[in-house]
Amino acid sequence: MSGVTPAAQLRALLDEARHAVVFTGAGISTESGTPDFRSPGGIWTRMAPIDFQDFIASEEMRRETWRRRFAMEDTFRAAEPNRGHRAVATLVRRGIVAAVITQNIDGLHQASGVPDRQVIELHGNTTYATCLDCGERYELAPIRAAFETTNVPPICVKCEGLVKTATISFGQAMPVLPMRRAEAATLAADLFIVLGSSLVVYPAAGFPELAKHNGAKLVIVNGEETGLDRYADLVLHEPIGDTVGGAVGVN
Ligand SMILES: [Zn+2]
Repeated sequence: MSGVTPAAQLRALLDEARHAVVFTGAGISTESGTPDFRSPGGIWTRMAPIDFQDFIASEEMRRETWRRRFAMEDTFRAAEPNRGHRAVATLVRRGIVAAVITQNIDGLHQASGVPDRQVIELHGNTTYATCLDCGERYELAPIRAAFETTNVPPICVKCEGLVKTATISFGQAMPVLPMRRAEAATLAADLFIVLGSSLVVYPAAGFPELAKHNGAKLVIVNGEETGLDRYADLVLHEPIGDTVGGAVGVN
């Protein structure tokens, strides 16, 4: 396809697709100003993440977890969907993309208009909390107000279980239902598009491999090289918003 622009190549693959699946990582959200926790210089290279077992075992660790989460609140709240998110939402609306599998926890795909049922969150969602025992949902604003008054980590009013942001922590099992849905979506895909993931975090990174082995075309748009570049049908080391926005015709 020499002489054809990358955007045109991506557009051609999208035109042929009947059932595309998008897989997103931190790279799409950093274009909205959300920090990439795992990147060099990212938060987790300066401050060790708190393991799930420590969260369960220690009130002091829970207090520290919530302190850190609320310190991030302004950043998360300021982040808005960018051109890449809008392009993905447009492809979903056009019926070309059937599902969005994401490693991100910021809820920006839903904020850009992708229906909840078409977003599969492998690492959960940090924009709300749930009880670890009964699953009751809690909004963060009232938890923060209480925490900043009492300095006591939240407890479920229904069952007295521990309340935690709805994210998957280090040491916590991958969520069964999202993993199953992601696998089913991947196996149904004829085009699998990776946006902004270096594909180093397993088991999540196994999905593009599975798609490719199952006969789907594989596209990777990422700032840096990934371990799967050599298997992909199209690799673009370009900004996501410009590349995908350009291919889809979304600003
Ligand atoms: Zn509960």
